[in-house]
Amino acid sequence: KPEKVAQPAVTNAILKRHGFHMRKGLGQNFLTDSKILQKIVTAADLTPEDDVIEIGPGIGALTQFLADSAHQVVALEIDDRLLPILDETLADYPNATVVNEDVLKTDLGALVAEHFDGKHTLKVVANLPYYITTPILLHLLRAQLPLHSMTVMMQREVAERLSATPGSKEYGSLSIAVQLVASVATAFTVSRHAFVPAPNVDSAIVTLTQRTEPLAALTDPASFDRLVRGAFASRRKTLWNNLVVLFGKTNKAAIRSALTTAAIDPGTRAERLSIADFARLDRALRAADL
Ligand code: SAM
Repeated sequence: KPEKVAQPAVTNAILKRHGFHMRKGLGQNFLTDSKILQKIVTAADLTPEDDVIEIGPGIGALTQFLADSAHQVVALEIDDRLLPILDETLADYPNATVVNEDVLKTDLGALVAEHFDGKHTLKVVANLPYYITTPILLHLLRAQLPLHSMTVMMQREVAERLSATPGSKEYGSLSIAVQLVASVATAFTVSRHAFVPAPNVDSAIVTLTQRTEPLAALTDPASFDRLVRGAFASRRKTLWNNLVVLFGKTNKAAIRSALTTAAIDPGTRAERLSIADFARLDRALRAADL
């Protein structure tokens, strides 16, 4: 196989030959350090038994490493200017397929059914476009794919929110949405200098491993979601004040009785509540017809 693209000189030569200019608005920061790419593959624990969805292949730096280790790779790339480059850099990787789509508009269930045989373990591995890290994570979680894990590079601040525990200022609705269905481990952090061009934030590789059962049994995930987002709507306010805004002043008595049933102090703040606390409160609120 020809040289890997993940080297500064090779990447720069490809970009120059194709007259390609990075679009900052698309989060285009390409990795040129093969040691980091190898560490991502190791963190994802990839084997030939795995099928991989990659988001944002760029010029294929990570895709080449994924295709070396996995059974099949499908990479979703929004920028059609990259297609001729990817044709070239992935020419020797017949198990890698590029799909020219916006990940947020892709029906991921249909994509999986179309491209994979269902006999391999499904993983997401990606160096995400940072401007839409949270929407991508939520889109992946909501797609309810038969996913084993996601190993994704993101800005360090978001990684901290994903693994935050109750009582910390990073803890919020994103921590809860993710931890409900996945266990979170930060594999390693990456300096901004590993990218071309260097982004203005530091990065971390996080592995989210799907739980066999959600951390709390929810009968109505949409109601739970609404409660969590409403409880965190104004972080400086007490839980009580946020719940009154969420359910309306006319429902004060019902809110108070649900808090009592769930044994939760109305004067506390949402950031103090565990996922189990939120699940209990959600059940009590619904029992009170809210
Ligand atoms: N994987 C490459 C690497 O590691 O060098 C590139 C990663 S770069 C941080 C993010 C990539 O995501 C870019 O190629 C960008 O064009 C692509 N991208 C941005 N928004 C996207 C979207 N909505 N759907 C799919 N790809 C997107």
